[in-house]
Amino acid sequence: MEEKDYKKLVDMITETIYREIKPKDEPSNLFSIPVEISNHHVHLTRGSLDILYGKDYELTKLRDLSQPGEFASNEQVSIVSANMKFIEKVRILGPLREYTQAELSITDGYFLGLDLPTRISGNLKGSPPIIFMGPQGVLTLSEGAIRAARHIHMTPENAESYQVKNGDRVKVEVSGDHGVIYKDVVIRVSQKSKLALHLDTDEANAGNVENKCLARIIKKFFH
Ligand SMILES: [Zn+2]
Repeated sequence: MEEKDYKKLVDMITETIYREIKPKDEPSNLFSIPVEISNHHVHLTRGSLDILYGKDYELTKLRDLSQPGEFASNEQVSIVSANMKFIEKVRILGPLREYTQAELSITDGYFLGLDLPTRISGNLKGSPPIIFMGPQGVLTLSEGAIRAARHIHMTPENAESYQVKNGDRVKVEVSGDHGVIYKDVVIRVSQKSKLALHLDTDEANAGNVENKCLARIIKKFFH
């Protein structure tokens, strides 16, 4: 059998099995996960904000984000790379954290001349150095520039209904005429989460994906 015929046959069998066993009213099969697109942004520690905006400066809220307690602040920084390229007005997300990092897109990485590793927030070991400029000072970090790994925030209850667990990597399909499937989407379970698929601007633009899109997890059986 030729390879393309073989592939066709496998597709046909897979589709038949899928149709047979797919529970029709299983809510986790529906497009039910809201998609949110994250523009590049930074997270800061208390010490970093002190340097950039002055001692004991408090972030002011621009708007709440979907994840409870998190917000986009009015404050911004400029990001400078070692080859003197810079990106202005990168928003600081609050509240302050235990680490300082820039979450950038691959396009930002090309522009800045940085080879960005794909990481879960906070995992910065070995990531490229970066410089932040604020109104009161300049902060030089020996590491801290990453591209955020695409991920789904969910509660333990959501995890149960989608039959996944924290740290799982799944395939996710996004609805729409130009819908796409993303591989290696990390499941992040926490009690204080709200269900959302987080993509960066590159990932979203590549698939014509907008904030109003919905997504669903493709069952592990079909990976
Ligand atoms: Zn997120």
